[in-house]
Amino acid sequence: MDRVLVTGGAGFIGSHLCARLVTEGHMVYCWDNMETGSESNLAAIMSSPRFELVRHDIITPRDLAVDRIYNLACPASPVHYQRDPIHTIMTSTVGVMNMLELAERYGATLLQASTSEIYGDPKVHPQKEDYWGHVNPIGPRACYDESKRLAETLLVAHERQRGTNVRIARIFNTYGPHMSADDGRVVSNFIVNALRGDDITINGDGSQTRSFCYVSDMVDGLVRLMHSNLRGPVNLGNQVETSIMELAERINALAGGRSALVHRPMPIDDPYRRNPDITLARQRLGWEPRVSLDEGLRATLKYFRSMMGT
Ligand code: UDP
Repeated sequence: MDRVLVTGGAGFIGSHLCARLVTEGHMVYCWDNMETGSESNLAAIMSSPRFELVRHDIITPRDLAVDRIYNLACPASPVHYQRDPIHTIMTSTVGVMNMLELAERYGATLLQASTSEIYGDPKVHPQKEDYWGHVNPIGPRACYDESKRLAETLLVAHERQRGTNVRIARIFNTYGPHMSADDGRVVSNFIVNALRGDDITINGDGSQTRSFCYVSDMVDGLVRLMHSNLRGPVNLGNQVETSIMELAERINALAGGRSALVHRPMPIDDPYRRNPDITLARQRLGWEPRVSLDEGLRATLKYFRSMMGT
């Protein structure tokens, strides 16, 4: 049994990770400032003696003897991370330093949730880990993208200078139950609109693509990476590329087809294509996504139906 800290554990991916680790028999400590996380995501494990939730913001140092740290603390959707850009930057810089110091103190392994956003609006497809990216340092996404880039730099520097054990997961678009209905993400927005019979709003002409990974696949990738000896960054995501228009049509059809598909202007710096090269994860972690988009969307629709009482 390991003592595992999951920061951001009340959030979308974090809550699934906490549940898996508790089920595997580990002692799980969840630190979350509850800015975007919620206790309802943790309902299944809240009463377990192997689970502890503390309301804590990683910007402030805090001590805990642990074996492993998954640092998932950071608002991840544009509407959330742009609400308080300075706090977003502090989370992935000062907060990450605090986690590195904790990992060093106890000889723990720190897995940092990095992001496909570090590639910005990529000029190379699919994106491999050795691509340096194409990021606007002063655009509306910069508070997230640039601080997540610096987080990777901090981890690598700590590893080189002090021998700290680090892992870096570059997480691509992920979806599933526990996404919040108001985070503005495309999957949750489209599902909520489709279930209400409201218009589904497509930014631009809908030809831009994303590659959507179901949350159980993502959690499996994170756990495998934590237990591997892989040091450098690793892409985790689904390789099946779907246009936003196609996603809207599929969700609308699965929900009963009551919504109209309407268009609105494309937001600034919205990447046109995003698609991971996951060769490294396949070869070194024996990992690849297993859940198809239809299967995952059905499970996600079921979750939102129960949340919305529809
Ligand atoms: N998008 C959209 N309608 C929405 C929400 C998002 O057309 O209601 C588009 C958005 O402009 C982007 C894509 O869907 O091109 C994915 O957006 P999301 O915010 O989910 O993820 P990210 O841009 O961070 O990959």
